[in-house]
Amino acid sequence: MKALSIDRPGVAQIVDRVRPTAGPGEVLLQVAFAGLCGTDLSAFLGKNPLVEYPRVIGHEISGRVIETGPGVDSAWRGVAAAVSPYKNCGACPACRLGRPNACRSNETLGVQRDGALAEYAAVPASRLVPSATLPLDVLALVEPFSIGMHAVRRTEVTSADTVLVLGCGGVGAGAIAAASALGARVIGLDLDTHKLEQARRLGAADVVDGRNDVAGQVHALTGGDGPSVVIEAVGSAATYRLALELVAPCGRIGCVGWLKGDVPLEARLIVLKEVAILGSRNATDELTAVVALFESGTVDPRALVTHRVALDEAPAMLGQWAAAPQAVGKILVSVSGHS
Ligand SMILES: [Zn+2]
Ligand SMILES: [Zn+2]
Repeated sequence: MKALSIDRPGVAQIVDRVRPTAGPGEVLLQVAFAGLCGTDLSAFLGKNPLVEYPRVIGHEISGRVIETGPGVDSAWRGVAAAVSPYKNCGACPACRLGRPNACRSNETLGVQRDGALAEYAAVPASRLVPSATLPLDVLALVEPFSIGMHAVRRTEVTSADTVLVLGCGGVGAGAIAAASALGARVIGLDLDTHKLEQARRLGAADVVDGRNDVAGQVHALTGGDGPSVVIEAVGSAATYRLALELVAPCGRIGCVGWLKGDVPLEARLIVLKEVAILGSRNATDELTAVVALFESGTVDPRALVTHRVALDEAPAMLGQWAAAPQAVGKILVSVSGHS
């Protein structure tokens, strides 16, 4: 079967791999679509220390079950599903607390182990997130949306909140859609005009152009109060500082943007405003909740997609993306010939 491998930083190609079989507790999926996100780009650029090479990428996938392994209900056959790409140890403090998304030994498909950007993938049946009605391309968008939804849940957003989402890319988009669905007023901030339009399509009531006077705009939009919740979905020192600066007194900050190195923060503001700072990593049962949200028809997840390519075109697409990261949002790779 064909698979997309990153052989070493900057070099991606379609390789031939042995088609897997469904082991105990597993199903064999015919992969339909795979989304690419910043995680894949950093693997391609050699910037993700968790990735060893060569590595088959692919963690945002959808497909149809074509085989069931020993111990798996044969009723799964033919079912269309998204896949939770995380594998946890079951024994560490996070797992014992029922929060496997923060597992100390988490392994994500396509990051710490080979992924599913291939024609077929064997995955545990317990990781399937099925839908009887969603198209397969939409199912491939469930995982990225779930990351933002998890941040919304971590910050306990309600309809009483004004939520400022810093960064309206894939993670931010999920946060915007999830917070809007809860009835919160959402403000999206980004440097990119296209992403601001996308934020509106996903439910943001207002948007802030990050290239202009951000504090002034947020101040005006919130009557001087500041947002009760800020979700940091960029992963830069500047936006982490901005979150603390802009959040309302007694507000919550959801930290989902990943960055290496220290971030100098005005720490006294944490005390002064009595801010709750909440980390947010991966997702748990949010994948099921995102399927329900998509099935409700209240959000248009395809608003996130900027590029659609066939599997054979995916290596070149990674190169194009690396050359102009700002021009690319969500790439959907059509793996088994669907359009
Ligand atoms: Zn992703
Ligand atoms: Zn664990």
